[in-house]
Amino acid sequence: MFQDKILTCRDCGVEFVFSASEQEFYAEKGFTNDPSRCPECRAARKRQGGYNGNSGSSRPQREMYDAICAECGAKTQVPFRPSGDRPVYCRDCFDKRNRR
Ligand SMILES: [Zn+2]
Ligand SMILES: [Zn+2]
Repeated sequence: MFQDKILTCRDCGVEFVFSASEQEFYAEKGFTNDPSRCPECRAARKRQGGYNGNSGSSRPQREMYDAICAECGAKTQVPFRPSGDRPVYCRDCFDKRNRR
């Protein structure tokens, strides 16, 4: 039969319980080694490893298009493709026009 074991996490050094039911689960899965990390460090490692390249931002990057401000001629970027039939303004001029 299994008995609760106290193990020490190799990452953070904290002591954690490797419970009888967990040991049973491990044995069922055929794992012969005790877990070497506490549940928190295991979860942290899983979080780091799982999704490559995605550094926390779930929002897709919006594509920006180069444009020339119709007011001051400055280079700017807009989140839509400038169509030519509507003037595009840089952020400053856009703010100025909206404040008027
Ligand atoms: Zn730990
Ligand atoms: Zn401008």
